[in-house]
Amino acid sequence: MVRPKTSEEIELLRINGDLVSRTLAEVGKLVAPGVTTERLNEVAETFIRDHGAEPSFKGFEGFPAALCMSVNDVVVHGFPSDYVLKEGDILSVDCGTLYKGYNGDSAYTFPVGEVDAETRKLLDVTKASLYKGIEAAVAGGRTGDIGYAVQSYAESFGFSVVRELEGHGLGREMHEEPGVPNYGRRGHGARLIDGMVICIEPMICAGGRGVYLAKNGWAVHTADHRNAAHYELTVVIRKGRAEQLSTFDYIEKDGLIKF
Ligand code: MG
Ligand code: MG
Repeated sequence: MVRPKTSEEIELLRINGDLVSRTLAEVGKLVAPGVTTERLNEVAETFIRDHGAEPSFKGFEGFPAALCMSVNDVVVHGFPSDYVLKEGDILSVDCGTLYKGYNGDSAYTFPVGEVDAETRKLLDVTKASLYKGIEAAVAGGRTGDIGYAVQSYAESFGFSVVRELEGHGLGREMHEEPGVPNYGRRGHGARLIDGMVICIEPMICAGGRGVYLAKNGWAVHTADHRNAAHYELTVVIRKGRAEQLSTFDYIEKDGLIKF
């Protein structure tokens, strides 16, 4: 059984959700051809620490950096490096924070300069599939309702859903119950209840859904080396419906940048 979060816990998770959202926007301002992912990671780590929080990914099971930086065919868990971003790349940035004992966790895939039409479609559909999942996250429903919503939407455009990785509960731990797969059948899986805080995070491939783990034991690549996108938001189920604790508004609104 998943214990519902108290309103105090939800407020701490909201603060973390806000910080990861702002951090992703700070990164987004700098995403451009010519920048290294290492540099973006440094900026993010400084921003997180300046706000009195810790980058929760750093040191987690040996992960070496504050953020995951996954370029093109890397689905998730890429290491920041001296790789120089170039026009037409896509960069998936996953950010985690730890503040007052609670976690934040969100991700966004940024286009680097101009990307081709098919890549733009992959980004738009992956993000829209996340919102479809959020709409399906209602009290009394099941995790399979979320997975079904994500999968049916993404596949209707001819894209495929990574099965090996999934969303999760969030709280004191970065990964809590229940697991939230991005595929599934309606009416199946764990029951969704008021007070549950979950991360929904579709990982969608332009080509086939096969993936493999790089030799470093972290980076997950598409087997066909076509692009993959990853968007993640944290929500709390409250008054029956999903309310976002993190947001892409800092990236997409406020006149900052337009992705
Ligand atoms: Mg994440
Ligand atoms: Mg996550």
